[in-house]
Amino acid sequence: MGIIHELDEELINKIAAGEVVERPASVVKELVENSLDAGARSIRIEVLGQGSELIRVSDDGCGMSREDALIAPRRHATSKISDEADLFSIETLGFRGEALSSIAAVARVRIRTRTSAEDVGTEVSVEGTDIHASDAAVPVGTRVEVRDLFYNTPARRKHLKGPATEMRHLVEVVQRYALAYPGVGFTLRSAGDEVLSAPASGDRLAAIVSIYGAAFAKDLLPVKFESPHVEVSGYIGKPTLTKADTQHQVVFINSRHVTNATVMRAVNDAYHTLMHLERKPVAILSLEMSPRLVDVNVHPTKREVRLSHEELVYQAVFEAVRSTLAEHQLIPTHELEAQRPLIAARIDPPVLSAAGSIARDAPATAQQARLAQPAPLAEVTAASQLSLGEVQPYVEGTDRFPSLRVIGQLHSTYILAECDDGLCVVDQHAAQERVFYERFMDGHLSKGLKTQQLLSPVVMELSPAEMRLVEEHTDVLASVGFEVEPFGQGAAVCRTAPVLFGRVQDERFFRDLIAAITEFRDLSREQREERLIRRACRSAVKANDPLELGGMRSIVEELSRCRMPFTCPHGRPTLFRLTIHELERRFKRVS
Ligand code: ADP
Ligand code: MG
Repeated sequence: MGIIHELDEELINKIAAGEVVERPASVVKELVENSLDAGARSIRIEVLGQGSELIRVSDDGCGMSREDALIAPRRHATSKISDEADLFSIETLGFRGEALSSIAAVARVRIRTRTSAEDVGTEVSVEGTDIHASDAAVPVGTRVEVRDLFYNTPARRKHLKGPATEMRHLVEVVQRYALAYPGVGFTLRSAGDEVLSAPASGDRLAAIVSIYGAAFAKDLLPVKFESPHVEVSGYIGKPTLTKADTQHQVVFINSRHVTNATVMRAVNDAYHTLMHLERKPVAILSLEMSPRLVDVNVHPTKREVRLSHEELVYQAVFEAVRSTLAEHQLIPTHELEAQRPLIAARIDPPVLSAAGSIARDAPATAQQARLAQPAPLAEVTAASQLSLGEVQPYVEGTDRFPSLRVIGQLHSTYILAECDDGLCVVDQHAAQERVFYERFMDGHLSKGLKTQQLLSPVVMELSPAEMRLVEEHTDVLASVGFEVEPFGQGAAVCRTAPVLFGRVQDERFFRDLIAAITEFRDLSREQREERLIRRACRSAVKANDPLELGGMRSIVEELSRCRMPFTCPHGRPTLFRLTIHELERRFKRVS
């Protein structure tokens, strides 16, 4: 007798369930997707025991006829595709006909459903491959109850993480669908408590506010970008809104939440030089493209998709994010809120009644504010190291960069400038770094980088290890303007440097470059060049550099002409703004 036999359906379903139903959150995902595919406008999710005891998803979608409700829990039963051609233009979230059968293989499932064509609905209970139907008085729509998840697969149950983790996964699933479908209302209750509520608003930003809160939403920039094949919309975080992980990078392709390395890479690349390397940007992006360009039939849970034109998608997403960042004024505003309790505690409360009356008709512009309350500048000068000179004209701003009038330098480090609604503080080092970086990059990329012979070449003593690194990278160094060669035993000499730094560089500068080389590891050639350029720009900036007003002015002017003026190439901010309104709050003129 042969030893090969066909598996029975119950066992097949259990095996399939292993792929589809990993944890309670997977059940929620599948049921919510079914509700969305059924055209629901409102989806209610209730759970007990973080989903292991009960998951109940109720919708107001199209419902199922009795006939359909009896087939739906069977394996490969679907209303969504019928032939092979359909597989290449999938417009629904589901299509494999696996979810209900997989869930029923590892839990007790009850479906109550009614279509608008019927007066009496159907209740179907499923246990294993046993399916029973009866009449039920239910509203139009579908409610699926899943009890005792993994009751018959104890090994699976053991693999579940703690309740907090399972609940977090579950909440994330609902959050993502609420973000993807702002036109649909979502509520999630756990043991009767409301965990999430996102009303159907039709507006993505409103959905973001219900999910992540208003404070988060206020630091977002809207994205709208069309390329011939891909449409990108949604919201991205200002570079100041960063996270330690990629939790807040949510991507939908044709309204399906996916993880796609290409899209993620494009987003992160677009923020390059705008934030610290270890911080992650925030992005909630929706990509629309022909379903023919997306293969969703790659992964049982369809989390990963295959794109047939990765490069096109990369370009579109990169451009969408980069141009949004370039268009907006991204100057962080100093928030005093956090410090207020401390200040209040130190000030006697009644002192400010007179100032309070000024506050009500607060001057509308910075100009008026100055006229109304001339500042005792002499005292300020004496009390600090603020240097003031003749009055400077405004440096003309652009659409996004404010007009600034330099008023002085603080601690040989910060440039203070007046803007129309307050004070801008420019970190002169960060600003110069940004200016150098863009000029250097432009010269390098256009192959127009000018270098000069150093009048006195810089000789450095190197350890054997450093020597090896330098020898290995002479071509990368040369390609960005530094001609370095061995110089006798244990030393190297640098004979050229890019003109743009404007002055002869010293040994410390070149030591910094060599330090950058030691961090190269497995970077590509372009990344190595970029790293060297960034390091050179940082090193070229002189620390604590007392500047004349004219010098400050030209830094501000050059910064205003940068493409990405608001951060240095390492992601630190170049300037921030203290608004008149905030100053007034600080002086208790307004509350
Ligand atoms: P798939 O979604 O891949 O088609 P499922 O096993 O998830 O497979 O569902 C099987 C079928 O049951 C669906 O194709 C659909 O016709 C029907 N169905 C499931 N859930 C619902 C629902 N909430 N409302 C209406 N029909 C549903
Ligand atoms: Mg489905």
